[in-house]
Amino acid sequence: MHAFVTGGAGYIGSAMVHTLVQHEYEVTVLDNLSQGHRAAVHPDATFIEGDLRDRDLVDTVLRERDLDAIMHFASKSLVGESMEDPMLYLDQNVRCGVNLMHSAVEHGVDRFILSSTANLFGTPEEIPIDEDERVDPGSPYGESKRILERMLHWLDELDRLRFATLRYFNAAGAVSPDLGEDHDPETHLIPIVLEVAQGIREKMEIYGNDYDTPDGTCVRDFVHVKDLAQAHIRALEALDNGSRVYNLGNGDGYSVREVIDTARDVTGCEISAEVGPPRPGDPATLVASSAKIREELGWSPEYDTLEAILSSAWAWHQKHPNGYDEV
Ligand code: UDP
Repeated sequence: MHAFVTGGAGYIGSAMVHTLVQHEYEVTVLDNLSQGHRAAVHPDATFIEGDLRDRDLVDTVLRERDLDAIMHFASKSLVGESMEDPMLYLDQNVRCGVNLMHSAVEHGVDRFILSSTANLFGTPEEIPIDEDERVDPGSPYGESKRILERMLHWLDELDRLRFATLRYFNAAGAVSPDLGEDHDPETHLIPIVLEVAQGIREKMEIYGNDYDTPDGTCVRDFVHVKDLAQAHIRALEALDNGSRVYNLGNGDGYSVREVIDTARDVTGCEISAEVGPPRPGDPATLVASSAKIREELGWSPEYDTLEAILSSAWAWHQKHPNGYDEV
């Protein structure tokens, strides 16, 4: 099997490439390195530096390579940024997906896995969130993923391809001490907490403590990138039995305060945290029901505790305090 991974130099995409290589897939990566890192791409994968907005490039790659499946990770992915610059998301994320699907249909690459998001559910009515929850995106970012999900729905309906969309909650952890999370600027909770533990940041801010949750801080469902990658392999292998949509998380929620407290235990470091105002667009609680993927594909997370997730992330941060930038 030859898999084409867009965004394969990014945090989740590079974990996926690593796992595909371990499963003996042939892998081609396309990434524009706007957020990803060349050093994160597994050496056994073929790397193409390029942009999905370049329709001719995408078309050439899909025409010339004998691809069996597409895994589409390349995306702008920050809720807050999409609230400030909606067109960046509604244009770029959608255009990249359109170009990719166009070429996939034209060249008969008929297996498509889309990296989707819990932000599809804006403010959910039921927690844990299952696949029957009403889709009502909380931001232009979530909306861009909904548009791509709907396109895939029609391509399946009209027999052009089969797809799986995986809506993940909070991806976290590191594949190994040499393959982890490195964003610039960093906005995500766990890397920020660990940067404070390392002394790279003096302190952090807790975005609001007046939510309707047990300790007043937001509750999230953290799932290890390695477990996410395993779920993608299973979803891909199940496509011959039809298209599918899954919510993907650990099934347990942890508050921002619990993450900070557990990080203090794991690292043995003081982590100075102050309460600040809430961040616009943040729902109080996002926890997935992963019952469907567990039942249908037999997936279950190996890293199902916050300690295990934080420990793996901590090993990466300690070995690479400057991320992939070794200076
Ligand atoms: N958060 C925080 N301080 C930070 C970064 C994040 O309190 O410096 C909170 C954020 O408000 C959210 C949770 O941590 O409730 C997870 O945020 P993150 O950006 O990691 O992921 P998201 O849930 O937005 O995908």
